[in-house]
Amino acid sequence: MAPPALECLLRARGLRVTEPRLAVLAYLAGTDRHPTAEEVESAVNAAGPVLSRASVYNVLHALVDVGLVTGLSVKDGPVRYDAHLGPHHHLVCRGCGRVEDVEWKDFAVAERGVLPDGRAVRTLFLTLDGLCTGCGEKEEGRGEAASPLPSRRPGDAQRFSTGT
Ligand SMILES: [Zn+2]
Repeated sequence: MAPPALECLLRARGLRVTEPRLAVLAYLAGTDRHPTAEEVESAVNAAGPVLSRASVYNVLHALVDVGLVTGLSVKDGPVRYDAHLGPHHHLVCRGCGRVEDVEWKDFAVAERGVLPDGRAVRTLFLTLDGLCTGCGEKEEGRGEAASPLPSRRPGDAQRFSTGT
C-alpha cells in the first residue's frame, strides 16, 4: 500500500497520522508473516533505531483498537499482528510455528486434509472473535451497535440473524 493510502486509513479511523503509526502500519500491510510485537520492532528499526519497544506496543494497541490491525493468539505464543483484514483463516505450521493465511473459501475443503495449493492440514480449530453472553449483554446495555463482518474489530459483538 502506498503511504498516502495508509494516511487515509489512519485518518478514516480517527487516528492522527504520525511517523511511528505509518512505519508500523506500512510494515504490517506489506507482510504476510503475522509478526509478533518484537518482530515488528526489529523490522521498523532495521535501518537504524527509530522506535522504542514501548512506542511499538503503543502503536500496535492503537491500531488494534481502531480495527486496522488484528491481534491473534497462536497456541501459547506471543500475540501476532495481522493487517490483512479481509476474512481469512490461519494455518499454523507444526514444524516451524510459521503462521500463514488460508483463503476463506478454502476452509470448506480443509477438512479433507489438503488445501487446494497442497498444504497439509492436520487439525482444524476455528476461533470466533466476539463477546460471550455476559459481555454481550453489558455491551447491549451501553447501546453499542454491532459491527458487521468483516471489519473484525476485537471486542465488537458479532450477531448473526437466524432468520427467526
Ligand atoms: Zn492472516
